[in-house]
Amino acid sequence: MNNFKTIPHNKPTMGIDEASAAQSVIISNDLVKGYHTQAFEDDICEYLGLPQGHAVCVTSGSAALFIALKTLKLKNKTVAIPSYACSSLKHACTLNQADIIYLDNKKNSVIFDSEQKKFDALIHPYLYGLSSKLPSCNQPIIEDLAQALGASTNNKMLGTMGELGVLSFYATKMISSGGQGGMLVSKSKNLIEQAKDYIKFDQQHDNNARFNFHITEVQAAIGRVQLKKLPEFIKQRQIRWQIYKDAGLTLLDNTSSELSHVRYRAIVLSSRYQKVIHDLKTKGITAINPFESNELLDKHCINANSITQKTVSLPLYPSLSIEDTHFIAMQTKKVLEV
Ligand SMILES: *Cc1c(COP(=O)(O)O)cnc(C)c1O
Repeated sequence: MNNFKTIPHNKPTMGIDEASAAQSVIISNDLVKGYHTQAFEDDICEYLGLPQGHAVCVTSGSAALFIALKTLKLKNKTVAIPSYACSSLKHACTLNQADIIYLDNKKNSVIFDSEQKKFDALIHPYLYGLSSKLPSCNQPIIEDLAQALGASTNNKMLGTMGELGVLSFYATKMISSGGQGGMLVSKSKNLIEQAKDYIKFDQQHDNNARFNFHITEVQAAIGRVQLKKLPEFIKQRQIRWQIYKDAGLTLLDNTSSELSHVRYRAIVLSSRYQKVIHDLKTKGITAINPFESNELLDKHCINANSITQKTVSLPLYPSLSIEDTHFIAMQTKKVLEV
């Protein structure tokens, strides 16, 4: 059983609905009027519980981060980011000429610690779909929910509590707008207006710096179809995550009654992670170390470095069959026990 195929680590859930949404845009020849783009923004606002007009589509999560820092005017200011995070956080700071402070993780955790640190702004990523509480501080917080769309804290959707929220629709995220895409959301309509002005590079009457970060109508139409399916995606991911857990695997989590997560990744801890990944591969299962030590944004963060030496991410996506999920659970248990 399962000897003749390989189970991938991740897989987008795209199909005929997304294809026909893209097709109708192409056939309409209305490629840049912005109907779907605005509708996608409205749909996301509704999903997150924000008023209409509080979101702007951009080309990627990276672009959203860049523009977020731009609207907050952080040039020569200090921005705190975790060392254990996507490199796009660092790039967004560098391109904005901000000074960076790196935050270490809590011990044996992927959750970072910003206590006792001074900064002018904080980027707060929710890695692996895990919700976490925002620190109470007066400085603006940018919530990065690229991996956690749909998660919440105290029944408040992630992305609506900080100054700005960053979404990514890259192929492997909770939903995709066809491979690349992103969005910036905010409870401040003024910040979104500034962001919209920044990406509307053409037909302006001043000399302000701007850049074209518009997504296409085709991308927005695909994104809208995916957003409708998001509740089902979240449910199907949760079912598979629970199968792993019920099989006795100890999965990385951030347990608290206030936090509601989405199961973007199922991660087990093992100091023999390389052997575990290798042994699973011989069974036709693609597991990965989701974050290698050489990807750390700052090498001096000890706890962050330590967690990179023990994580194994198991396949988890809505189209993973239940049978395969049980198979992976069983094999992973065996491999971890030797
Ligand atoms: C993917 C990701 C990004 C970047 O998003 P792109 O759309 O790939 O540019 C930023 N932050 C986190 C936490 C991510 O996972």
